[in-house]
Amino acid sequence: MVKFNAKECPKCGSHEIGRGKQSGYAGVTPYEKMGFNHSLIHLICTDCGWVVGSYVENPKVFKKTVSDYIRGI
Ligand SMILES: [Zn+2]
Repeated sequence: MVKFNAKECPKCGSHEIGRGKQSGYAGVTPYEKMGFNHSLIHLICTDCGWVVGSYVENPKVFKKTVSDYIRGI
């Protein structure tokens, strides 16, 4: 398995990856759970605009959604 390299754009090969932050009402909340919005960070190629990857700042708050998914909800 090839290790994911967030430092290079898979589309144009640029190494100039910037970061954008998506927050507020457009943030991510744990699936069907009440809670705060969590900011979503996007890794964006500053040459072609390709979103290389995204992640949330507090992944642990989504742990409680894992068992729901396994049950098929
Ligand atoms: Zn690119």
